[in-house]
Amino acid sequence: MDKKINIAIDGHSSCGKSSIAKFISRRFEMIYVDSGAMYRALTYYCITNKIIINNKINLSLLNEHIDRIDIIFNYNKITKKIETFLNGKNIESFIRSFEVSKNVSKVSQIKQVREKLIDIQKDIIKKKNVVMDGRDIGTKVMPNAEIKLFVTADLKVRAKRRFDEVNENDHDLTYEKIFDNLVERDFDDENRKLNPLIRASDSILFDNTSISEEEQYNYITDLIKTKKNILCK
Ligand code: C5P
Repeated sequence: MDKKINIAIDGHSSCGKSSIAKFISRRFEMIYVDSGAMYRALTYYCITNKIIINNKINLSLLNEHIDRIDIIFNYNKITKKIETFLNGKNIESFIRSFEVSKNVSKVSQIKQVREKLIDIQKDIIKKKNVVMDGRDIGTKVMPNAEIKLFVTADLKVRAKRRFDEVNENDHDLTYEKIFDNLVERDFDDENRKLNPLIRASDSILFDNTSISEEEQYNYITDLIKTKKNILCK
């Protein structure tokens, strides 16, 4: 019988975590949870409800609203992609905007925000068979995950990947702007008080700066198969 496991993937922005997580989800039929999308969705809510104005967060207004914020994922059978829904509305196409990227690391430092989203994440992982990516997955959300990966890549390579991704929709965005945003978010994510981005001591370090997608996927497939075999014995 196939053993159900959870897989935690952490790392900096645009280091390739989500491509790896999506691959694992397809290859091993696991549920994929993009925890960054949840922080982005909540940030988008704050922007559209004027809880954030001029990059400043109105904490008391956020507290009034927080219980009204409902974030779920739905699988789109046509695009074959998972999409993020905020209070019933599909907001997938808005949450990767630069406006959201600029504010998300500040929002994700707020205790109430982290508690709310971690509660949802912990609920999803109860039945196992989940691959989740983020910043604190191996350390806080799934400390008992059967496999933990900590993904890294060279900063310039990450900025270029992100630029290629967003440039299709936003032609005003320059590589330099994206590079600076990544540096800023890395700093905020690593240095915040609550659940900063740190490598779990039992995680596997995975640098994907200069290896091909195929090499990455072969390595990960072997890793998961080996782990499952050990657990089945
Ligand atoms: O992964 P992505 O870059 O989309 O995440 C956006 C932001 O959400 C991160 O820069 C970080 O501030 C926050 N985040 C977090 N904890 C997670 C996932 C994301 O604080 N588990």
